[in-house]
Amino acid sequence: MDTRFVYESGVYTLVDCPNCGATVTTAVKCWTVAPAKQVEDGVIPEFRVGLFKCPECQSTFRSRVNSTSQSVETRNVKILAEKVKDIHDGLTQTLRFLREKISALETERQSLLMEIEQLKKVAESRANTLEIEIKQLREDIKALKELLGVNEKINWSL
Ligand SMILES: [Zn+2]
Repeated sequence: MDTRFVYESGVYTLVDCPNCGATVTTAVKCWTVAPAKQVEDGVIPEFRVGLFKCPECQSTFRSRVNSTSQSVETRNVKILAEKVKDIHDGLTQTLRFLREKISALETERQSLLMEIEQLKKVAESRANTLEIEIKQLREDIKALKELLGVNEKINWSL
């Protein structure tokens, strides 16, 4: 029979040792046998074969691995894939959240900078106005002093 061997490791299964009957839980090697030639009345289904070593009597033997062991393996792979997907989704969500947060913060920063810029303009304009007023008041004082003929400070308490 023409066969294709797919080696896989870490497969958990339950088989009985043909020598002493002890339960062997882990295959040393495990592979899928897929018959390439078809039988007349249909397809020969794939089956899995494991190489086992009995922990009790140390004998090694091959055994066909039942489909439940494969489904356990498949389920483990599925659980792992789901965990990886969860982590990936979590990261994607975190990244999206952070991107949105950064974008919102940048917008807020921009608007705050604009507000500061506007307030600075208002303050500069206020300062300019005050400077002009002070200059005007000094000129008024100078003119009044000249009018009164005083150069020293006036004693206001008089
Ligand atoms: Zn044994």
